[in-house]
Amino acid sequence: MRVVDQETPVYLHRLPVPGEDRYVCLALVNSRFRVSHGQVDLLDGAEAAHLWLVRHGLLPDRVPVNGRQAGRLCALREALRVLFGAHGTGALPPADALDTLNAALAAAPSTPRLAWTADGPRRDDAPDDGNPAAAALSLLAEDATELLTGGDAAQLAECAAQGCERFFLRSHGARRWCTTRCGNRVRAARAYAARGGTSP
Ligand SMILES: [Zn+2]
Repeated sequence: MRVVDQETPVYLHRLPVPGEDRYVCLALVNSRFRVSHGQVDLLDGAEAAHLWLVRHGLLPDRVPVNGRQAGRLCALREALRVLFGAHGTGALPPADALDTLNAALAAAPSTPRLAWTADGPRRDDAPDDGNPAAAALSLLAEDATELLTGGDAAQLAECAAQGCERFFLRSHGARRWCTTRCGNRVRAARAYAARGGTSP
């Protein structure tokens, strides 16, 4: 079942998944998830993809997104899910997931720049502004590459709550749920089972 409801962005806003504020690629991966009444897809169509990209600061509002570009964004999301999942199990990912990520990296790569302010030198990559939709794809792929190859990769985990499907960065080693909502849901289910499946 596919559910498109107006409440979804509010719902997500209320429950930020740890890591999404630092890695926009995590937000992309988590743009498809389950709720009690079905599947939610925040990239369901060109208009939704446009809204998502603008909301995440990856695309100027005036730049439209066509169906093909929205399809590429969804394909990158699915490839990232596979790659993040492979990272969790330690298995080699399928070649096509890697190819999809690498194609996105090459779509419109940003140019490395060295910026220097009173705070000192820092890397400040300039996105390719000739093709904004492709540049957004490249930025997301660059972000995912940085996450998978950097020091935060060890904290990358998939939520252990059944059917949640969200990825997050562990704030501490034992954390298993993406949000307290998932943790509470699992605890409630366990308590229900411990009572022999009878309601209080
Ligand atoms: Zn969860």
